[in-house]
Amino acid sequence: MRTLTNISAVPYSTFRFNAQLASVIEFGSVAELESFDSDTTPVVLGEGSNTIFMQDLSAPVCRFVADSKTVTHLDPQHVLIHVEAGHNWHQLVNWTVEQQLWGIENLALIPGSVGAAPVQNIGAYGVELADSCLYVDFYHWQQRKMQRIAAGRCKFGYRDSVFKHALTGKGIITAVGLCLSQQPARVLAYKGLDHLASDATIDTIFSQVIAVRSSKLPDPEVLANCGSFFKNPVVAKQQYIELKAKYADMPGFTQADDSVKVPAAWLIEQQGFKGKRYGDVGCYKLQPLVVVNHGAGTPAELEQLITAVQQQVFTTYGIELEPEVRMLNSAGQSFR
Ligand SMILES: Cc1cc2nc3c(=O)[nH]c(=O)nc-3n(C[C@H](O)[C@H](O)[C@H](O)COP(=O)(O)OP(=O)(O)OC[C@H]3O[C@@H](n4cnc5c(N)ncnc54)[C@H](O)[C@@H]3O)c2cc1C
Repeated sequence: MRTLTNISAVPYSTFRFNAQLASVIEFGSVAELESFDSDTTPVVLGEGSNTIFMQDLSAPVCRFVADSKTVTHLDPQHVLIHVEAGHNWHQLVNWTVEQQLWGIENLALIPGSVGAAPVQNIGAYGVELADSCLYVDFYHWQQRKMQRIAAGRCKFGYRDSVFKHALTGKGIITAVGLCLSQQPARVLAYKGLDHLASDATIDTIFSQVIAVRSSKLPDPEVLANCGSFFKNPVVAKQQYIELKAKYADMPGFTQADDSVKVPAAWLIEQQGFKGKRYGDVGCYKLQPLVVVNHGAGTPAELEQLITAVQQQVFTTYGIELEPEVRMLNSAGQSFR
C-alpha cells in the first residue's frame, strides 16, 4: 500500500483542473484493502478519464493498482480472461487482439482502467462491456469482504450499472472476468466499420477503430478532456415524433422499448456550441459533445458552459442533458 498526501490532482484527471488532493492511497492486493480503515467514505478512482475535480478534495482517493491477468479455457471456443482492476483498458484490448481473441476489439482506445469499465458499462462501435463480461469482483468497505457479482446482477444498461446506483460508494472493483471467443465474432454494422469486408481480420477491425477514433476525438495527452461530456438522451416515442415534425433533420435511434435515443452532439451543435469557448473551457471544434480544457480552464468556466448548453437544449427541445462525466466537490460527492 502506498499513500501520497497533499498532491496536485492534475495527473489524476484527464481534464487536468488544478485542485489539491488530501491523500491518494494505492492498493496492490486484496489483503491491503482488508487492512484499510477510514472514517470518511473514500473516493474510488481509476485513471481519471471520466472524473473532474471541481474543488480541492478532503476525502481520501483510493485506487486498486494491481494489474495481472490470467487465462482459462472454458470450452473449445471460449476463454475466460480474469483481469485485475488496475490494468489499462486499451492495453488489454491490444493484448487480446495479439492473441486473436474476439469480443472487445471494437472498444479499442477507450482511455482508463479495467476496474472502471463495468461502472459505466463502457461502449463504442456497437459493442459494450456487458457483451463479454462474466463477473465483477468487488470489495465491500463496510462488510470488509470480497464478493463475485455475476454479470446478470450488474444491471448493465446504457452507460449504467449497479455500481452507479446501489453499490456506488460502497466498495472497490478488484477484477473483471471476460469471456472472449477464439472464433471470429465481428460487429461491423456501426458507421465507420460498415465498409469493412465481412471476413475482416481482428487486426483490421482494431486498426480501423483506432483510426476513426483518432480522427474524431482529441487525445487527452494533447488537449485535456474526458470524452463525451453528456449522455445521449432517450425520449418517449411520442415526444420524438412531435420534435421530428418541427425539426425534420433531428436524428433518432429507436430502442428495444420503443423509446428513441437522440444524439446529444446534434442537439448541442444545432445550438451553436461547436468550438464555442468560455474562457479556456469549450466544446471541441470537431465534436461538440466533447468538452475540452485548453490549458488554464477553471471550474467556474466549465459550470458556465454546462449551464448554457443544458439551458439552451432544454429551452429549444424540452430535453434534459445529463452529464456522463463525474464532477466531484470537496467531499467527493457528485457536483451535479
Ligand atoms: C478521449 C476519451 C474518449 C472516451 N471514449 C469513451 C467511449 O468511447 N466509450 C465510453 O464508454 N467511455 C469513453 N470515455 C470515458 C472513459 O474512458 C471511461 O469512463 C473509462 O471507463 C474511465 O476509466 P478510468 O479508469 O479513467 O475511470 P475514472 O475516471 O478514474 O473513474 C470513473 C468511474 O469509475 C469508478 N471506478 C474507477 N475504478 C474503479 C474501481 N476499481 N472500482 C470501483 N469503481 C471504480 C470511479 O469511482 C468513477 O465513478 C472516453 C474518455 C476520454 C477521455
